[in-house]
Parts: sequence; structure tokens; C-alpha cells
Amino acid sequence: MSELQLDVLKSKYPLLTPMMACEELFWLNPLATGLAADSTAAPEAMFTAEDVEAVEARLQHFRPYLKKVFPQTEAADGLVESPLKEIPEMHKILAGEADKKVEGRLLLKCDSMLPISGSIKARGGFHEILKLAETIALREGMLQLTDDYSILAEPRFRELFSKYSVAVGSTGNLGLSIGIMSAQLGFHVTIHMSADARQWKKDMLREKGAIVVEYPDDYQKAVAEGRKAAANDPMCHFVDDEGSADLFLGYATAARRLDFQLRELDVTVDEEHPLFVYLPCGVGGGPGGVAFGLKLLYGDNVHCFFAEPTHAPCMALGMMTGLHNEIACSDIGLDGKTAADGLAVGRASRLVGKIMEDKLDGVFTVEDDKLYHLLTKLADSEGIYIEPSACAGFPGVMALQDQKDYLDRMGLTGNMSQATHIVWATGGSMVPEAEMQSYYNKGKTL
Ligand SMILES: *Cc1c(COP(=O)(O)O)cnc(C)c1O
Repeated sequence: MSELQLDVLKSKYPLLTPMMACEELFWLNPLATGLAADSTAAPEAMFTAEDVEAVEARLQHFRPYLKKVFPQTEAADGLVESPLKEIPEMHKILAGEADKKVEGRLLLKCDSMLPISGSIKARGGFHEILKLAETIALREGMLQLTDDYSILAEPRFRELFSKYSVAVGSTGNLGLSIGIMSAQLGFHVTIHMSADARQWKKDMLREKGAIVVEYPDDYQKAVAEGRKAAANDPMCHFVDDEGSADLFLGYATAARRLDFQLRELDVTVDEEHPLFVYLPCGVGGGPGGVAFGLKLLYGDNVHCFFAEPTHAPCMALGMMTGLHNEIACSDIGLDGKTAADGLAVGRASRLVGKIMEDKLDGVFTVEDDKLYHLLTKLADSEGIYIEPSACAGFPGVMALQDQKDYLDRMGLTGNMSQATHIVWATGGSMVPEAEMQSYYNKGKTL
């Protein structure tokens, strides 16, 4: 991007200046908040409720299989789902530190505890691989839609899937979910890992039988290399984190399950009882899919905000400028370096920005040091351990309180005492204990 182009953008979007200085910011989406001059900009619906329902049905079919091959899913009868918890002690700490009252209830969606791969990537990643297996088995005439899918654990299916391979580029957690599920089914699987991926993730994947290829560069490069390798092999399925519909729709199934959990906690979502959801964002697929599903269910009564590191705010940048995946953090001089390895992405998904253009309420950014601090506070107050990336949602709860114009404009001010806030804790239970301890210790010093 030329100096001139950048100057034009900066004068059009004043928040670019603090963004370029790696300062924290809170961007509110004019297309979602009734401010847009051109509110007909809403793109055609790329996905529908029926698309999400079809994926829900597919995941139902797979429950007997998952229950059989992953004993950790037995108690939930093969459902891969995470708890929703009230966190009153953390609520007090947040309010105390910010010296302001946060009305309503504060809940934590513990995707950090999703079985098998311990992060939000279990939602999208498992779906994409299970669908691939289903498609191949149906095509070969070895499976019928009416079958009990636990037969997929039989050796003849492993033999079938071993003729195929799977490839993905990842900063870590997507690699874990794709690698573990693919290897279990019998696929050959290669994970192209970026430099920020943690060593333990590489070790764990190799242990499960995945091939791990390491790149000294960033996530984008790892994805590009994965794509290139897969393109030369007709038997290889490439999981495209930058634009996969199967990933996106897998994430979207979180919404209806969350709705059941909210009912169990006696939470109402309607015009007088708004729901606010704070989702850590990397390339955008995970938070985008979840937010999309929630919007289908709750419409204007749910307000979704994405959280990004100050050094890698690719979604804020893409949404604000409307350039989506056509602009990268490096174009505005940002280095993309962050301790939030799950969020270390310089360019947003080519799918999500456009789908969420008129649905996402806003994006805020968070400094790395705050993530460690929040990690430690959550551990101390609630005994819940999550990874640094997964803490990014918390500051949004506080920051939203300062967005008075937004709250007024949306007619929310009078209803905040009846609001529910959900911080989406996107990962953490797979982090080795020593590694988690070092995160915790770091947070203590900050
Ligand atoms: C991947 C990831 C995210 C963000 O998901 P994207 O689809 O990349 O936006 C958030 N938190 C954690 C822990 C992750 O691994």
C-alpha cells in the first residue's frame, strides 16, 4: 500500500491512527448500528438456517461414532460440547479493577474444555473432517445415511480413508483438531505450522501420527504452503481456514446448544433482556460462525463483539475499511506479533467479513499483557485455566460500558440491568501444566 493510499484511508477512518500505534480501540460497526449512510449494503445471505440445521443433523449422526472412539465423550453420549458457567467472583474483580459497575450476569462459555482437542476449533474442525469421511464413505457405497455411524470405527473404513489425505495450515489449535480427528479416522494428515505455533502442539500432533511441517514465517505462509502441497494431489483434502464453509457452519452449531444452556440457567434473551457475546478472533471463522448462528436464533437481541490483539487486528481493519481480506495488518505497518498465538493472524478470512458485514456489532483490541493478567485473575477467582488468546473477550465487557452513544442508539441503556454477558473462552485445557504455570506466573507479575 502506498503512502498516499494510506493517507486517504487514515483520513476516512480515524481509528486507523491508534490502530497503527498498537493502541487499544473499540470499533463499532456503522452497518449494524443504524448509522450507515448506505444501509442497503447488506450482502445476500450466503448461508441459511437450513444450512446450519443440516450440519446439526450430521453431527447428531456422528455421536455413536465419537462415543465409541473417544471415551471422553461417553458421558455426553458423543456430543462434543462445553459448559456454560456463571463467574460471579471474576465479575467482581473486573468491576473492581475498572472501578465501574457491570450490570447483568456474567457467564463464561468454556470452549477451553471442549473434549478431544480443547478449543473452539473442535466445532469447525471436527465437522469438516467428519463430513469428508461421510462423503467418501457414502460415495463408495460403504455407508448409508440411515446407518449407525459407529461402523465407521471398523478397520475397513480406516483402510478406505488411508487412501486419502488431509492438509491444513494452522497457528496450532486448528491443527490439533484437524490432526486428531483425521488420524483417528485413518486419513494421512499433514499440518503446516507457522512459527508462532507452540512446541507442545507439534509434539502432540506427531504423537498422534500427523506429519508436522514447520515454517519460519507466519500463519498466512503456512496456509499458502498447505494449499500448494494439496493442490498437486487429487486425493488430498485441504482445510481452508481462510474461507471454508464446512468450518464456518460447524462453528455456527454452537448457537442452538448455547440456547439450551441459557434456558437451564434461566436466562431470557429478548428485547428487554439483551445478550452480549465477546469472541476472540483470529482469521474470523470461529467467532464468525458462532455469531452467525446466534444472529439466526436471536436476531437483534444478541450483540456480538470480536476481540483481537493490538498487534494483529485483521478483522477490525478489514471490517472498518470494508476491504476485508484485501488489506493486511502488514499494509499498515503492524508486525502481527502477539502472545495470543490463536489470534496471530494478519489477514481476515475472505468469507467471514462479508457475511458479518451487517451483523457484527463491533471489534475491540487488547494488549497482550492484559491477557496474562486476566488469565491469572480467572484462575485465582474461579479456578478456571484458559490460554492467553481465550482471555481476549473479557476487556470488552468493561469497554462496552463506556460506549454510551451506542447503548443509547440501540435502545439498550434502560435494559442493561437485565443483560447477560458471555465471554467466550476459546481454548486452554490441552495446554501442558508447566506451560500453563508459566502463563499464570507471568500474569502474577503484571
Ligand atoms: C483459533 C482460535 C480463535 C479464533 O478463531 P478464528 O477462527 O481463527 O477466528 C480464538 N481463540 C483460540 C484459542 C483459538 O485457537
